[in-house]
Formats: sequence, C-alpha cells, structure tokens
Amino acid sequence: MTTLLLADHDNATLGSATARALSAARELGADVHVLIAGSNAKPAAEAAAKLEGVAKVLLADDPSLDHQRAEPAAALVVALAKDYDAIVAPATSSGKNILPRAAALLDVMQISDIIKVVAPNTFERPIYAGNAIETVESTDTKKVITVRGAAFPAAKEGTAAAPIETVAVTPAESGSAFVSESLSKSDRPELTAARIVVSGGRALGSSEKFNEVLLPLADKLHAAVGASRAAVDAGYAPNDFQVGQTGKIVAPELYIAIGLSGAIQHLAGMKDSKVIVAINKDEDAPIVQIADYSLIGDLFTIIPELDKALG
Ligand SMILES: Cc1cc2nc3c(=O)[nH]c(=O)nc-3n(C[C@H](O)[C@H](O)[C@H](O)COP(=O)(O)OP(=O)(O)OC[C@H]3O[C@@H](n4cnc5c(N)ncnc54)[C@H](O)[C@@H]3O)c2cc1C
Repeated sequence: MTTLLLADHDNATLGSATARALSAARELGADVHVLIAGSNAKPAAEAAAKLEGVAKVLLADDPSLDHQRAEPAAALVVALAKDYDAIVAPATSSGKNILPRAAALLDVMQISDIIKVVAPNTFERPIYAGNAIETVESTDTKKVITVRGAAFPAAKEGTAAAPIETVAVTPAESGSAFVSESLSKSDRPELTAARIVVSGGRALGSSEKFNEVLLPLADKLHAAVGASRAAVDAGYAPNDFQVGQTGKIVAPELYIAIGLSGAIQHLAGMKDSKVIVAINKDEDAPIVQIADYSLIGDLFTIIPELDKALG
C-alpha cells in the first residue's frame, strides 16, 4: 500500500498543514509520496523532501498548476492515482477544493476532515460542528481523505532528504481561470499555526475597541488574533480572523477568549486548544464551562490590568 499526500504550499514554502497531514498519512502504514503540484515549486518540493517519513517527492511543475485551481490539480491527482491505495490532503482551502473533485472523478467517496486513523480503512471525523464523532469504515479500494491538521502532530525534519522525481503534466481542460488574489499581510503569526491565539467577541463593541484592547495584548504574547462570528459580522474584525464552524479551526497551546460566549459553532473551531482561558463577565457563559482558567469580570478592566502585568 502506498499513499499519495497532496501538499499544501505556495510554490516557495510548504504550508504547516502538510507536515500534520503527513503524520496522519504515515498512520495508514504505507510509504508516503508527497505530491507538489505547482509552478516554480522546487523550493516547496525540497522542503517536503526533508520531512521525516517521506519516501519520495513527486514534483509536478507547470504554469497550469500555479494557483492550484481544482480542475488541473484534480486531473493530475487522478492521472497519478492508479499507483496509490490512498490519496490524502490537509483539510485546507486547497485540499478541500481539490480532493472532492478528484474523489468524484475516481468514483469513490471522500472521507473528510479525519481526526484519527483507527485502521487503514477506518477513521474518526467530527460531525454536527464537533458535537459527535463519527467512525467511518470505507470499503472503497482507493481512499480519498482530508485531514484536520489540529488533530495530528507535525512531522519533524528527518536526517536524510527523500528523492525528488519530476512528473510530466498534461495541462487539463479547465472551466476556470485565475484572476487575482489579495492576501492580507500581517506581522503576527498565522492563525491556524500560532502557538497562542487571542480571540475577541461581540463584547468588544467596535473595531476601534477590538484593535485598542486586543492587539497590544496579542503583540506582547506574540499571538495571532481571532474573533467570533458576531465580531466579524459586526465589522469589528476582518473575515479571516473568524474562528469556528464557518471560520478557521485552531488548536494552539493557549487560546484566550475575550468577551465571547462560546457558542457551539465557535467551540467547534477551538475546543482542541491545549489551554483555554476565558475572560467574561458571565460565569455561566459556555466558554467559561469549558475553560481551564476563567477571569470573571469586565474585559475593559481586566485586559488593561493583564497588559500592565505583562510589562
Ligand atoms: C450556521 C452557523 C455557523 C456559525 N459559525 C460560527 C463560527 O464559525 N464562529 C463563531 O464564532 N460563531 C459562529 N456562529 C455564530 C454563533 O452561533 C454565535 O452567534 C457567535 O459565536 C456569538 O458571538 P459572541 O460570542 O462574540 O457573541 P455573544 O454570544 O453575544 O457573546 C458575548 C459574550 O461577551 C460577554 N460580555 C459582554 N460584555 C462583556 C464585558 N464588558 N466583559 C467581559 N465579557 C463581556 C457576554 O457575557 C457574552 O458571553 C455560527 C452560527 C450559525 C447559525
């Protein structure tokens, strides 16, 4: 049994979710080949080759794969699929965009967002916004799987680099074209990879207060900034800050939830955090119930005090 891992990358660097998906792929008990589908993507391939447990890196380098649109990337996966028993990708925007298409073309079901490998054909995955865990046994001969990164440790770098093999690409017919992308730039750590996340909710009251109260604390802690959907919908924080069922899934070492209630849809995105701190004036708030530590009181008093104590 050999597993193909479709890497998440931006051609120059490997996304951190790839190393986590690699840990899941290795639990399938077979050799893992990492597929780098991109354009001028040799640096990403070299980074993948260094990861422990990678038997081989396949580099598919072609302008049609530049932005990893679903159609050409899925066509490539399908072209390679005959040599593999399982095709795995991190459940990132790219993985979730490409793999369902590949699964449909291969006429197998996709097993989405796994959090545990029970056996090579049996997996656990959260359903109902994380309120139940489903065990899925697949009888498909080829497994197509996306991996929830927060549930697996990142594979470390190994001692020897795996070989990199170039794969020929036949540009596929495509109904889509890349138009543009606008990436938000920030000096803070990326939300899904950060060790510490400081997250704010509706209680912040305005974008001015959100920035004034949360950002200095986040900067002192070298933390990423997150937000509840209510804070995002009210315009206090940008969309890409949203944590939860319809936002990002995070599992940092420390999650500080400030003035947010901890609705189930929010918990779905952060309840695997190692240590959760709630700052809330309501001791019955759901976030307080699941927090390891709670500070009950007005955030506008507590945060400046915390800020001062941090120096
Ligand atoms: C399909 C669907 C998907 C959703 N997806 C998401 C998602 O991905 N992420 C998400 O977050 N939500 C999501 N939601 C919305 C979710 O149900 C809640 O409405 C939202 O999370 C509430 O945000 P909040 O906790 O900031 O606000 P509230 O629920 O209004 O909570 C505010 C909290 O602040 C506390 N507070 C108020 N003033 C202060 C103060 N001065 N000091 C300290 N504490 C104070 C209150 O006690 C309260 O606990 C989704 C909903 C649906 C239906």
